[in-house]
Amino acid sequence: MSKTVCFITRNFGKYDPDSLKGYESIGGFRALRKALTMEGCDIADVLAANGVQGRGGAAYDMGKKWRQAREVPGAHKCVCATPTRASRAPSGSGAAHPRPLPTAGGHDHRRLGRGADNGYIYLREEYSHLRPRLLSAIAQCEAAGHLGENILGSGLNYRIHLYSGAGAYVCGEGSALAESIGGHAGRPRMKPPFIKQCGVFHLPTCVNNVESLSLVAPLLLDDEGYYKSQGTPDCPGTKMISVCGNVKRPGVFEVPFGITIREIVYDLAGGMESEDYPLRLVQLGGASGRICSPAQLDTPYTYKGMRQADLTAIGSGAVLVVDERTSVIGFLRMTQEFFSHESCGQCTPCREGNRHISLLLDKVAEGTHTAQDIATLKKFADIMSSASLCGLGETAQSALLSCMKRFPEVFAVKEEVAVR
Ligand code: SF4
Repeated sequence: MSKTVCFITRNFGKYDPDSLKGYESIGGFRALRKALTMEGCDIADVLAANGVQGRGGAAYDMGKKWRQAREVPGAHKCVCATPTRASRAPSGSGAAHPRPLPTAGGHDHRRLGRGADNGYIYLREEYSHLRPRLLSAIAQCEAAGHLGENILGSGLNYRIHLYSGAGAYVCGEGSALAESIGGHAGRPRMKPPFIKQCGVFHLPTCVNNVESLSLVAPLLLDDEGYYKSQGTPDCPGTKMISVCGNVKRPGVFEVPFGITIREIVYDLAGGMESEDYPLRLVQLGGASGRICSPAQLDTPYTYKGMRQADLTAIGSGAVLVVDERTSVIGFLRMTQEFFSHESCGQCTPCREGNRHISLLLDKVAEGTHTAQDIATLKKFADIMSSASLCGLGETAQSALLSCMKRFPEVFAVKEEVAVR
């Protein structure tokens, strides 16, 4: 199996991304023209036939999601493109392919359902350098008739708006994102109603990760079935990943599903940064992802393979490699600090749970914890998973719980402390 592939990335570096003509010179807008000839749920059917799962944390069946969005009644609907759920990785995969969104990819979504007449790109603060380029691309598309009123004479109207967020992690959650775009604090709403019924400006809204949307245009043109020929039979296709941390060659790669975590770390990213410091752990899917121990490196990078190895989240495609210069407990304290900071404070399990877990981890780091502390740590983590209002609180302790399973020695109670 080849270690890297080019499907979403097939046009990278082949044209000037600031020029509409440049995009057209490599066949840009062919997918748009094809989309304008398609009916009903045809595009959703293409996604379903290719087995596409959304690139957000939930990995929801994308064809099904689009079909459901179409079926929601409403004279006006929105499509929302959100960058990857934030990770501490300096570069998310979403940053690597900004151009397809305001051009071909964004247009194609007009066929999501009659009435979807506005699209929103929500740009995190970390990607603000892309703002002028995206605004320019939208303006060029409008001038050329690829966006706006009566797109290419089809009678369809669609506008794309660019919104900037301050960078809150929780705004990767659909309803928090809708609140933020609406000019309010980016805090998740109680559900129902769900965002597909009541999202941006209280209109039915389909929120998709930016990588998920970027798959649509190439899939519409993939007559030879290249996408489906990649990956494994139960997980076809390709995935953008960003590898960072203590590796020789951090970067963004497009890989076929089925590649192993070992191949990602050692073949694509060049292995460990320093031979003096072996691998300690790998965190997959961003800050809320579970931890892969060195013994799990041969796990295939597929949804099923990860699930079977109790690693779950492929999510944003973030792969954070940590060597032995960082202790497991040091890593967990950083993660906890991050979530304590990012919790919006709206619900008690997450607001208080993150804070208390931080305090207990401090005790573990000092070696002064008791068996009761470890039981309390686990209890808080379980309460957060089951009682938090949104995905942030539900998954903030994923790294902790997986480290408790994979590195039990870190949490072992010293004898004298146990007796005291
Ligand atoms: S789980 Fe955390 S981030 Fe989500 S609503 Fe509750 S406090 Fe806010």
